[in-house]
Amino acid sequence: MKIDILTIFPDFFRGPLDYGIVRRAQEAGLATIEVHDLRAFAHDRHRTVDDRPFGGGEGMVLKPEPIFECIEGLDIHSRSDRLAAGRKQSVVLLSAQGRRFDQGIAGELAALERIVLICGRYEGVDERVGQHLADRELSIGDYVLSGGELGAAVILDAVTRLIPGAVGNEASTRQESFTVTASVAAGGANSTCGSSGLLDYPHYTRPADFRGLQVPEVLVLGNHEEIRRWRRRTALEKTLRNRPDLLEGAALGDEDRKLLARIADEQA
Ligand code: SAM
Repeated sequence: MKIDILTIFPDFFRGPLDYGIVRRAQEAGLATIEVHDLRAFAHDRHRTVDDRPFGGGEGMVLKPEPIFECIEGLDIHSRSDRLAAGRKQSVVLLSAQGRRFDQGIAGELAALERIVLICGRYEGVDERVGQHLADRELSIGDYVLSGGELGAAVILDAVTRLIPGAVGNEASTRQESFTVTASVAAGGANSTCGSSGLLDYPHYTRPADFRGLQVPEVLVLGNHEEIRRWRRRTALEKTLRNRPDLLEGAALGDEDRKLLARIADEQA
């Protein structure tokens, strides 16, 4: 996969690109990531990339020219071609007004061959970029950041770890919070600790006794069926407590529903 990032602060990405799975994916040739400095596409002496908003008001707006020029040099399909079914490319504008990014969209993007991430700054980006150049606007949450760089780093990380081969043990990405895989959806509670759209179950490691805080006994005893049931129950408990909204879209089996009813009874 090739990922291009357009930004006025290219150095911002030194950290996010140089560690962990994102770094390993690049080294393994699974992802090629290129950061483009938008100022290189400004033609005046001061390398101006922003201007005052038409109609007046606060702050500055990122100009369309450097962004259009940068993307036109990237050798990607036109917007209409990208939007046509089957095209494996997407140009994403980071925006607080975009669709909320989630694990499902991360999976969708990980299946593409090319992603371009446009980072806004100041009061935002000239609207013509969103309307005529990008094919989607994504927000990483309901809050306003000062720039799209953090959002791009979040998307980059979430997408890269879903590229086949990027994570050492691929099964682990199928079992994580929010993830619904076909086999898990079909299996519901019977599948081995797949998340099925729930939050992940709690994880523990050695020592079994840390300052008197014990690891749940069931995990130490090693009965696989008991462990599976415990993990499922704790995942359901955590989801009910922290993100009850996820239960509606989760792939729940009969055993899950019974467990949920029991948990709700106990909490009543
Ligand atoms: N005036 C804009 C608004 O109220 O929606 C906010 C602009 S923000 C200060 C500057 C840039 O940060 C945006 O153009 C966008 O690229 C990025 N940004 C801010 N919040 C974001 C979010 N929640 N998700 C993704 N990008 C965000």
